Amino acid sequence: MKIVLLGTGTGIPDPRTPRGYAGVYVKAGREHLVLDAGPGTLKQLMRIGVSYLDLDRLFLTHFHPDHCLDLVSILFAMRIPYPARTRPFTVYGPRGLKQLYRQLNTAFHRWIEPQTYRLTLKELGETTLALPGGTVRTKRMNHAEGRALGYRLESAGRAIAYSGDTDVCDDIVQLGRRADVLILECSMPDERKVAGHLTPTACGRIAAEAQARRLVLTHFYPIVHLATARRRIRRSYAGRLTLARDLQALHC
Ligand SMILES: [Zn+2]
Ligand SMILES: [Zn+2]
Repeated sequence: MKIVLLGTGTGIPDPRTPRGYAGVYVKAGREHLVLDAGPGTLKQLMRIGVSYLDLDRLFLTHFHPDHCLDLVSILFAMRIPYPARTRPFTVYGPRGLKQLYRQLNTAFHRWIEPQTYRLTLKELGETTLALPGGTVRTKRMNHAEGRALGYRLESAGRAIAYSGDTDVCDDIVQLGRRADVLILECSMPDERKVAGHLTPTACGRIAAEAQARRLVLTHFYPIVHLATARRRIRRSYAGRLTLARDLQALHC
């Protein structure tokens, strides 16, 4: 699989190291997948040469705006018929996805509903799905009152796990079990731990317990100091470690 971190920031822009909002591109077999679609995801996809016309599936972890606002931009682009999109598009997310779509479509006077292609919205609990490019497993994460999902994608014998936003929980360890790439949010420094999010020490422990082969961190608030974060993670996790930057590409 090919992975590109489209945006490695959070809900607030960082003046020193500009980071985009949450979004991860994955090429699994022939399928073009996106995990989360924060503002700017559509533009970042264009920058790596992936057109909205090519996208097959979008997996939303939860409905905080930094993870889902570009759903509107993506569906609006797909509606514009120059050229007309014919490829079906499926959006997955936790319960509430259909209501979110209806409300957004009403707010935008039906300018995001499809004209030339088939749009499917799938609300997921904890489940495993078989897809043309492999399988997708979901687990409920410790974030947004338990309404957030983490995703694990498996394709051609490789596994990627993605936390979206979460606090410490056993389910993220399960999801990341021996993953080739475990992508965790690392919102806050250890000294400023907040409910619903991880710190570098927590990320290191999760990756070590899960025995993940590679740990990739994203979703950094500006106050996270990367060199300190790396040291804290190294206290518990000895595997390959990447503190991601926007548009960083990985292969597994
Ligand atoms: Zn977030
Ligand atoms: Zn969130």
